[in-house]
Amino acid sequence: MLGYVTTLRDPLAQVLGKKAGDTFEKVFGLRTVGDLLRHYPRRYYTRGELTPLDSLREGDHVTVLAKVATSGVIGGPVPGQRPKGPPGRSGPKQRLEVIVTDGTGKLQLTFFAAVGFHAKQLQQGALALFAGTVSSFRGRRQLVHPEYELLPVSSADDRLTTELAEEFANELIPVYPASAKLTSWAISRHIDAVLDALDAGEDPLPAEVRKRHDLWPRELAIRAIHRPTDRDDLRQARQRLKWDEAFTMQVALAQRRHAAAAMPAVPRPPVADGIAAAFEERLPFHLTEGQRSVGEVIAHDLACAYPMNRLLQGEVGSGKTVVAVRAMLQVVDAGGQAVLLAPTEVLAQQHYRSITALLGPLAAAGQLNAGEQATRVALLTGSTGVRARRSALSDVFTGDAGILVGTHALLEDQVQFADLGLVVIDEQHRFGVEQRDALREKAAGSRPHVLVMTATPIPRTVAMTVFGDLEVSTLSELPAGRSPIATHLVPAVERPHYLDRAWQRVREEVAAGHQAYVVCPRIGDADDDSDGTDAPEPPEPTLADGEEARRPPLAVLDVAPELEEGPLAGLRIGIMHGRLVPDEKDRVMTAFAKGELDVLVSTTVIEVGVDVPNATAMVIMDAERFGVSQLHQLRGRVGRGSNPGVCLLVTEAPPASPARERLDAVAGTRDGFQLSRLDLQQRREGDVLGAAQAGRRSSLKLLRLLADEDLIATAREESTPLVAADPKLEAHQSLKEAIDDFLGDRRAEFLDKA
Ligand code: ADP
Ligand code: MG
Repeated sequence: MLGYVTTLRDPLAQVLGKKAGDTFEKVFGLRTVGDLLRHYPRRYYTRGELTPLDSLREGDHVTVLAKVATSGVIGGPVPGQRPKGPPGRSGPKQRLEVIVTDGTGKLQLTFFAAVGFHAKQLQQGALALFAGTVSSFRGRRQLVHPEYELLPVSSADDRLTTELAEEFANELIPVYPASAKLTSWAISRHIDAVLDALDAGEDPLPAEVRKRHDLWPRELAIRAIHRPTDRDDLRQARQRLKWDEAFTMQVALAQRRHAAAAMPAVPRPPVADGIAAAFEERLPFHLTEGQRSVGEVIAHDLACAYPMNRLLQGEVGSGKTVVAVRAMLQVVDAGGQAVLLAPTEVLAQQHYRSITALLGPLAAAGQLNAGEQATRVALLTGSTGVRARRSALSDVFTGDAGILVGTHALLEDQVQFADLGLVVIDEQHRFGVEQRDALREKAAGSRPHVLVMTATPIPRTVAMTVFGDLEVSTLSELPAGRSPIATHLVPAVERPHYLDRAWQRVREEVAAGHQAYVVCPRIGDADDDSDGTDAPEPPEPTLADGEEARRPPLAVLDVAPELEEGPLAGLRIGIMHGRLVPDEKDRVMTAFAKGELDVLVSTTVIEVGVDVPNATAMVIMDAERFGVSQLHQLRGRVGRGSNPGVCLLVTEAPPASPARERLDAVAGTRDGFQLSRLDLQQRREGDVLGAAQAGRRSSLKLLRLLADEDLIATAREESTPLVAADPKLEAHQSLKEAIDDFLGDRRAEFLDKA
């Protein structure tokens, strides 16, 4: 007993003493009692179920529950023999070797010091938790000088009823994420101490919500997750604590939405005979049903006196750009300006080209051939030359340019708008909340409307969390006349002739007047191999057990000349990667778009958005090096015109390996949503949430975005009316505190920049 009451917000140092408090902070970043109590057990052992020792891997820091099988002291001075070695040394070293078992597997424990003491402790039949780093000695896995904690083998009372004996065998022993400095049982003891004195205070979850969803009171749940009496307890406790995570997050997001809706924005209602209408007349195709209906929703949003915050997601090639251009033109018609932010130079250039092409004379204000309602489109990227930059800045400042296209260079201070009405962000997953906020600030006085576009289909729950402050629209159909992309695996090791066939296929496409991409994971030819784009690193390739470390991934600068001299000799081959100077990038992309190149050997810089309808084939080298969604994005670059596309995934991953299974999944479906779920299953949630996560990285402990989809959706439904009725949570003080704790340092930023 600590002798006084402790609350969740008390600093650990105050409750456990400075030394323990400092250690917790240093090792796990835990500062308060609440932090410590959210350091949940990793798993639970029972005495009846020992740790499977076969599953231990070398190098892991582990805590195992095992039984001593044999124990023996080895070495030491042999009686009657003089100790060897220099005088003063005690001769051959003694050591204690203990073999522990889980009933089947074995693990060796070795002690070199205090041998007698440990020998007495660890006698045959003893049961204990052992903690240490797994190493290997003569092919056997061992722990050297493990920490251990003996567990009573039977209850102190020997006159046990069978019932009590069973209870004892089934008691759940929590095992905490531990480190060499803080063992699981040390953590456990601190938690005991804290729980003894704990008063968790008022429950943040409103009583009605608890009742509706049959949830335990918080304090009960906190106690039970650390000290469960049985599995059912544990399930109830976890469910309740998951709710806390989902609910605080959703209430915070609801507050953000609520605050955003209270901001003034300039309404930009559509006009009947403006540039938007003229643009539609010029369109060389009919809008799809989806483009039309999403367009109406957006047109309505823009006409409101509070800012639009909309996420538009649509499969690659579903035609999001046209939707965005229509929205931008509506704003221009209403006297405002729009900005389109692209994640890469290549994409910004391409947007600029295609928007000016679609607009034709409508983009030529001030020139002789300009249309009646014409405006100007300005381009601003990191590589825009001084003179072009000056004129773009001036057009934007005066309002002569209705549309500005660019990369994050746009975020700089010099860029000032006459009247910014709409911010469009293409391929949102490359931008954080921070950039969105920075752009918003460029609208003087009021909030601009915001449209975020992504081609990475986002599972429902991610949309509700990472993008929880946005309304979501989806373009699900592709424009008519699109031909499906066929995706095939090319197992280069088992079937080398498939690879020959792949190159032959590329030649056939080119002979038919089409073009092809060859994608490699690396640029090559330099120590610094970063691609110079905003692209996230491809996922760490996961080597299956026993798989050998492989050669480095294939590089653009190696593959291109090999193809030029070998299988693709005679074709016009260009290269593209992030280290090219921007002018060169632009030149290559333009040449490829114009059909002056047959084959583009490239890194993933072409992953997002690049649109060359005449490209019909893509060969992806070392395909297993890319993530599932990334592959889906990449292949979206082909088959954008009316000719069928083919995507060939070249891999050396062995059959039946996890990597091969991922590739099979990509080849097997064209459903981006399904693939993004697969992606999410294989990555840690933290990666998905990334910087955009609503709070501290550590905020989500129990909640899993996929597995807890329904729970998150329900929490969201509960949060909206609660915030509508009491936006400042004045009648919900403990909930407010829970949100503060959840958001940590980012609170102000998160709520105020809504
Ligand atoms: P994404 O949604 O992947 O950004 P884009 O906006 O780049 O797709 O559109 C892909 C291609 O489809 C572009 O060449 C575009 O001009 C064309 N496109 C867009 N809408 C239609 C439509 N309704 N009918 C035919 N082609 C369309
Ligand atoms: Mg696009």
